Amino acid sequence: MSKHSNPAPRERIRSTQRQHYSVLQLDITGVPQSWISQQDAAGHMATDSVAWVDGAEPLAVMRGGFNAITGRQSTLEIYPIVALRGAAAVNLFEVPPVFSSAKCFRRDLFRCGFCSEQFAESELTIDHIVPASRGGKLSFMNGISACSFCNSRKRDRTPEEASMPLVFLPYVPSRFEDFILAGRNIRGDVHEWLASRLPKGSRLS
Ligand SMILES: [Zn+2]
Repeated sequence: MSKHSNPAPRERIRSTQRQHYSVLQLDITGVPQSWISQQDAAGHMATDSVAWVDGAEPLAVMRGGFNAITGRQSTLEIYPIVALRGAAAVNLFEVPPVFSSAKCFRRDLFRCGFCSEQFAESELTIDHIVPASRGGKLSFMNGISACSFCNSRKRDRTPEEASMPLVFLPYVPSRFEDFILAGRNIRGDVHEWLASRLPKGSRLS
């Protein structure tokens, strides 16, 4: 953490807000690997594991020790995108994105798949398109955002049986989309970096 001796109140607020942004960790070829904390990014930088960085400007400048000879304090600029040296252990492009309700709501832009109305996250549920009682699994292809009214009206029926056709279709997010859906606090430049790599026709682009 940066240690300002006497920060102005406004400065303090700004630097606190900045600390919430996550860092997008890539492998050396630019494939997203995970969201990491700024502290973890600083650790990679300190051990010289970072091949290159990207982003409009640093998320934070961390201050280290004083050089005994020059008397200058070392600083570490934490960029929002860091690519680590070495090959990634896992090729995430071959791993399907893991389902979560929060990601599904964002994929569906917080709209109910039956009435198309937009809701707050707390008012949305996940509907099993093929009901769980019929063996329908919770997945990106069988899950759709639904308001509680529509969800309880549909009950354990398929959309066809309930005469409630889907107003949009579910899909499995691409790897880059998955990172947008999973990110809690994505700064504008990092969002742009990911969005520019989305497949054509993505709902998020
Ligand atoms: Zn609805």
